[in-house]
Amino acid sequence: MKLTFMGATGTVTGSKYLVEAAGAKVLVDCGLFQGLKDLRLRNWAKLPVDPASIDAVILTHAHLDHSGYIPLLVKNGFKGPVYCSAATRDLCAILLPDSGYLQEADAERANRYTYTRHKPALPLYTQKDAERSLGQFHAVPFGQPQVVGDGGTFVLSRSGHILGSAFVRIADGRTSLVFSGDLGRAQDPVMKPPAEIHDADFLVLESTYGDRLHRDSDPEAKLGAIIRDTAARGGTVVIPSFAVGRTQSVLFHIHRLKKSDAIPDIPIFLDSPMAIDATILLRRHRDDHRLSGPLCAEVCHAARYVNTPEESCSLDDGPGVPQVIISASGMATGGRVLHHLKHFIGDARNTVLFTGFQAAGTRGARLVHGEDEIKIHGRMWPVRAEISVLHNMSAHADYGEILGWLRHFRTPPRRTFITHGEPEAATSLRMKIQDRLGWDVVVPEYLETVDL
Ligand SMILES: [Zn+2]
Repeated sequence: MKLTFMGATGTVTGSKYLVEAAGAKVLVDCGLFQGLKDLRLRNWAKLPVDPASIDAVILTHAHLDHSGYIPLLVKNGFKGPVYCSAATRDLCAILLPDSGYLQEADAERANRYTYTRHKPALPLYTQKDAERSLGQFHAVPFGQPQVVGDGGTFVLSRSGHILGSAFVRIADGRTSLVFSGDLGRAQDPVMKPPAEIHDADFLVLESTYGDRLHRDSDPEAKLGAIIRDTAARGGTVVIPSFAVGRTQSVLFHIHRLKKSDAIPDIPIFLDSPMAIDATILLRRHRDDHRLSGPLCAEVCHAARYVNTPEESCSLDDGPGVPQVIISASGMATGGRVLHHLKHFIGDARNTVLFTGFQAAGTRGARLVHGEDEIKIHGRMWPVRAEISVLHNMSAHADYGEILGWLRHFRTPPRRTFITHGEPEAATSLRMKIQDRLGWDVVVPEYLETVDL
């Protein structure tokens, strides 16, 4: 068995691992590089393997840094199946066409304002490319081994990160290799806990929070206090939220706060078509999360869905009654939430509540940092609203939770490869696993190949 690290080394994006086993070439995850320009340029580089020679793709989950390269792989000649869980397939059907649409919009904007050296600027792939690639998706059930190559197998088990997320175990009769994908949290109120893995010859382990612990704070209590205080001032709470995962957790907490009368009965709006579609999927994939049928229905109805852009705009010219608006994107880098920020951010009665870590350079990070003006759509807007952050909402295990999950192994893997983390996080996790568990752990390099 041979393993090549084609992404998620020294970064949390671009997950792509080539496994050569049982006479087949299998790509585990097929993600986009995101963030800094040097990383994004890698999306345009030729893959070190011909897409037409790849036999199959197996996805751990639907987030674009794990799935967003598939339309390009297909466009460049990949003809095989994309195996994943049913919920991952359904989420990809929402996320990939939207990603293509955004790629086209970016290229179009670059051409209009001619800030590109490439004339004309082309999208990495289009919405049509993404829609076409969906025809190659094959959903497979959790826990049932599937054949790949000549006598090789793979099996998915739940990783507790987002709807449909999975660990992938590949075996060829001699060697077994497990990919953690993104590892969820044992105590998540919505997702089921990650499955216990008891053995593997080799392990590829994510390290997003390899050097951090989540704050021990209760997001529901804080969310309740913020909604109560803002409503008492007659203000609006604007929640920039990630469409998949985070939004559904926010709805779950709001539902509980409403049910226990911990917040006043004010209108709650979900203003993001993608978040609405992802929320509806909770009901289609009941086995993938902890919510019972009736509770799931109630959580889905915790907010009024805002579908059209006209309805979205009308939220901004209401009579000034207290309300909550949940809208994408989560770091206020784009999307409908920008219109709401322009409208509400200049009034001290309102609150802007972020739902997690804000990456450096984003509008969200500047607001959390306390800047008193913010640029939106080419204009500066004064910041007078209260700015707050809801902590402990992450869908990633912190290092304590990662070590807890590793302790389920009855025998240590022969070697563990740490990926999907910034360099400090990966190194810190490597040392912790070596010190506390005594395992053989390495941090691989970009494009490194190892014989297993
Ligand atoms: Zn993820």
